Amino acid sequence: MKKISRRHFLYCGAGLLCSAVQAHAFLPFSVEANAAAGPADIRGRVFKKDAPEKLWKWSHEGYFYTKLDNKRVMCGICPNRCLLSPGDRSVCRSRVNMDGTLYSLTYGNPCSMNVDPIEKKPLFHFKPRSKAFSIATTGCNFRCLNCQNWEISQALGMW
Ligand code: SF4
Repeated sequence: MKKISRRHFLYCGAGLLCSAVQAHAFLPFSVEANAAAGPADIRGRVFKKDAPEKLWKWSHEGYFYTKLDNKRVMCGICPNRCLLSPGDRSVCRSRVNMDGTLYSLTYGNPCSMNVDPIEKKPLFHFKPRSKAFSIATTGCNFRCLNCQNWEISQALGMW
C-alpha cells in the first residue's frame, strides 16, 4: 500500500470535509435530509395551513401548476414540486393554495428595488460605470444557512 505524508493526508481530509459540508448546505432537499429531519426542520417542506386569510391585492393565479383531486395543487416551477392542500403555503413561501387555486403572493409585490453601479453585479467588465436596476421579491426555495439575504429570502412577505 502506498504511504502518504501527514500533510497530504490532512489536505485530502480537509477537502473531503469541505465537500461534505457544501453538499449538505446546497442539497438540503435530499432524501436523507428529509428522513433525518425532526419536526422543527423545515427544509424542503411545505407550510401546512399557513396561507394568509386574504390575498395580497394584486395576487395573481400562478403559472405552471396542476390541479389535482380534493382541491390539491402541484406547482411545477422548481424541483420541489410542492403539493399543496387548500390553505397550505409552498416551500418558497410565495405561493399558496386558496380553495384549489394556486396563487402567487409576490406578483406586483417587490420587497426591494434599487439602482446600483454595474460593478456590484456578478458581471465581468460589462459596460463599466453604467447602472443596473435590481428588483426582488420575497421567498426562496433553498434554505442555505449562509444566506446573505435571509431577511428577504426567508420572509413571509408583506401582506
Ligand atoms: S418551492 Fe415554490 S417554485 Fe418551487 S415547486 Fe414549490 S411553490 Fe413552486
